Amino acid sequence: MVVQIVFFLLLVVAIGLLYRTSLEMQKCFRITKPVSFDGLWQKRLQLTLKVVLGQSKIMRKPFVGMIHALVFWGFLVITIGTLELVVDGLSGQYRSFSGLERIYEIITASGDIFAVIVLLGAAFFLVRRMGFHIKRFYGIELTRMNKQDANIALLFILFLMVSLLGLNTYDLLWHETQTEGWYPVSNILASWINGNGLMAREGFHFFWWGHILLIFIFANYLPYSKHFHVFMSLPNVFLSSMKPLAFLPAMPDVTKEVKLMLTGDAFQVEETNEPGRFGVKDVEDVTSLNYLNALTCTQCGRCTEVCPANITGKELSPRKIFVDLRNRMMEKGPFLSEAPKYHDDLSLVSDYITNEELWACTTCNACAQECPLNISHPNLIMDMRRYLVLEEGKVPEGLNAMFANIENNGAPWKFSPQDRLNWTQQ
Ligand code: SF4
Ligand code: SF4
Repeated sequence: MVVQIVFFLLLVVAIGLLYRTSLEMQKCFRITKPVSFDGLWQKRLQLTLKVVLGQSKIMRKPFVGMIHALVFWGFLVITIGTLELVVDGLSGQYRSFSGLERIYEIITASGDIFAVIVLLGAAFFLVRRMGFHIKRFYGIELTRMNKQDANIALLFILFLMVSLLGLNTYDLLWHETQTEGWYPVSNILASWINGNGLMAREGFHFFWWGHILLIFIFANYLPYSKHFHVFMSLPNVFLSSMKPLAFLPAMPDVTKEVKLMLTGDAFQVEETNEPGRFGVKDVEDVTSLNYLNALTCTQCGRCTEVCPANITGKELSPRKIFVDLRNRMMEKGPFLSEAPKYHDDLSLVSDYITNEELWACTTCNACAQECPLNISHPNLIMDMRRYLVLEEGKVPEGLNAMFANIENNGAPWKFSPQDRLNWTQQ
C-alpha cells in the first residue's frame, strides 16, 4: 500500500507539472489570432494517417526515414505497455493487462522487439549527430542549447529502452515460468545474466522504478524541447491547410475595403471597429496555427536544406522563422496574456527576423513541400512582408517603383493604360 501511495503521489506531481506547463502554453495561444477551418474532416483524417502514422514525408530520405518511422511506430506500441505500468503502479497488481491472454502476448512481444529497435535507432541518431557533420543540423538559429536538447532527448529515449528491456529481463529471472507475457529479446538477455532470487527481484524493481521515473521526467521535459513534436505532430498535421501550397489567403480588412470601393459604398459605411494590424509584426499578430507550427517544428532543417535562397547564400533559413517565433513567444507571450498593453520595445520582425531574410524568400514553397510535419513557412513570411509594406513602407528599391506603377497605371509597368494597345498599330 505504501508503494502505491508513493506511486500515486509521483503521478500527481508529474501530471500537475505537465498541466502547469500546458496552462502557460494556453496563455500564449490566447494572444494569437484564431483560424477558421474549412471542415474537410475526412480528408484531414486521411492526411494525418498518411503523414503522421504512415510517416510518408519523412520517407523522402528512405534510410533515415525508415529508422525514424520504426522509432515512431515502436513508441506507439510501447505506449500500451506504459499504460499498463501506470495501472500496475496504482493498483499494486502485477501485469494488469495479462487477462488479454493471446493479445497480451502479441503486445508484450512487439513491445520487447520494438524496445531493441528504438534503442538502436536512438543510438544511431545520437552517433550521427555527435560524430558526423550533417549540414542541415547547423545554422545560426541553432544555439548550443538547441544541439544539447537534441542529444538529451535521444539519451532519454535510449535510457527508457534500456530500463524497459531491464525490467522485462529481470521479470523473467524473478518470475521464471510464471512470467506473464512473451518477451523474445529479454528471454535471450535473461539467458546471458546469471541472476535469480533476491537479486532478480531487486533488479526488477530497480528497472521498473527507473523506467517510470524516466517517463515522468521525459514527459515534462518534452514541452521545452524540439522533441515536443512527439505530442504536437498529430494536431499540427490534422489542422494544417488543405489548400494548394501556393494559396495565399487575402487580408480580410483589405478585401472589405476593396469590396466597398467596387460597390461604391465606401463612404456610406460607418466604420465601427478600429482597423487591425496589417500583417504580422510580433507574436500577438500570428495565428494559433502559426504558433502550433512553431511548437511542432523538430528543427530537422529539411526546409532550409531545400530553400533556394539559403542554398544561394542569402540570409534566409526557413527553419529560423519558426525557431524565432517559438523563442519570441516564450519571451513575450506570458507577459502579454497578463497585460494586453505590455511591450518590451522588441518585435519578431526586425529584432529577430531581419527585413533581408524576409525579402530573400522566392515563395517557391519548397520548404513547406519538404517539411515532414506540414508546416507552412511562406504564409507567415508573406504576412511579415505585408506588415513591412503596409505599415512601415519598408520595401526593396525595385518594388517601390512597381507599387507606384500599379497605383498610377494599374499594372507593374511604367506605361500609361491608354498606351496599352499601341503595339497593335505597329
Ligand atoms: S518559399 Fe521561401 S523560405 Fe521556402 S524554400 Fe522557397 S525561398 Fe525558401
Ligand atoms: S519547419 Fe519542418 S522541415 Fe523545417 S526544421 Fe521544422 S520540422 Fe523540419
